[in-house]
Amino acid sequence: HAKEQGRDGYCFFENSMNANAQEQLHLLQDLRYALERNELRLHYQPKLIAPAGPVIGVEALLRWQHPERGLLSPDQFLPQAEKTGLIVPIGNWVLDEACAQMQRWRAAGHTSWNIAVNLSASQFAHAKLIDSVRTALQRHGLKAHNLTLEITESIAMRDANSSLAVLEQLAAMGVGISIDDFGTGYSSLLYLKRLPANELKIDRGFVNELDQGGDDAAIVSAIIALGRTLGLKIVAEGVETPEQQKHLTRLGCNLLQGYLLGRPMPAEQLIECYGKTPA
Ligand code: C2E
Ligand code: MG
Ligand code: MG
Ligand code: MG
Repeated sequence: HAKEQGRDGYCFFENSMNANAQEQLHLLQDLRYALERNELRLHYQPKLIAPAGPVIGVEALLRWQHPERGLLSPDQFLPQAEKTGLIVPIGNWVLDEACAQMQRWRAAGHTSWNIAVNLSASQFAHAKLIDSVRTALQRHGLKAHNLTLEITESIAMRDANSSLAVLEQLAAMGVGISIDDFGTGYSSLLYLKRLPANELKIDRGFVNELDQGGDDAAIVSAIIALGRTLGLKIVAEGVETPEQQKHLTRLGCNLLQGYLLGRPMPAEQLIECYGKTPA
């Protein structure tokens, strides 16, 4: 096909576009079968009290063990899953698997741990969300307070009134509500005050530049003060260096998550690393 290609660069461009689109399409086709082929995995990242534990909770993070492409992270396939609605069955699998794992950890004595599951916009907007949550808890014999649902500030803000209604139902059941990536959305203080959340996660973007002497330390302290006023637990995400950890401690934030403390890892590995921390 050399003759067709590169005549004026146009065909080459078009071909590479097609290749990319085709790749996306293949991935999407594969994703439809990923569930039944048992290719989805959960990795778990601890939330702990600085600097060395104990673990207070564990966040479930989705991975796809693709037969040819290896282990894929959510950014590589969740946007497509979200667009096609596949996120709903996938999200139900995540809920179920995370609850099953939490029950195994409880049986092993880790009764103070809490499992956190992320929700995307369309899961959150889906009419059956409350049912799915209730079903997963019941099936694995968990109490609602053993589970936390993480939703980003921007998702919570979208369609504020109906979001509030859903969150209120979940909170009334006793499920923990965590506002993820806080500081990247535009919640009004009034709305924040009405949210039935019990945890706020400082976006890792702010934590990242904490050592670099910009505005971020002031922003992080403002977020901490705000969270305190609202009676929320405050977790810093994406803590990578001891300097960041110390800085956060000085600012009054002692609940941390990040590569410094522990990367997302398979359940067996998590129990090896943290299973001996006093519960
Ligand atoms: P998130 O909920 O804000 O999760 C934190 C992300 O930051 C995770 O990326 C985690 O691996 C990464 N991370 C943790 N510590 C550090 C650190 O110290 N440094 C850096 N650079 N990164 C760190 P991951 O696992 O790729 O997930 C990305 C996003 O995908 C999540 O952001 C969440 O919004 C979404 N997601 C993950 N699992 C699920 C799921 O089961 N369902 C839904 N709906 N969304 C999910
Ligand atoms: Mg999260
Ligand atoms: Mg986050
Ligand atoms: Mg995020």
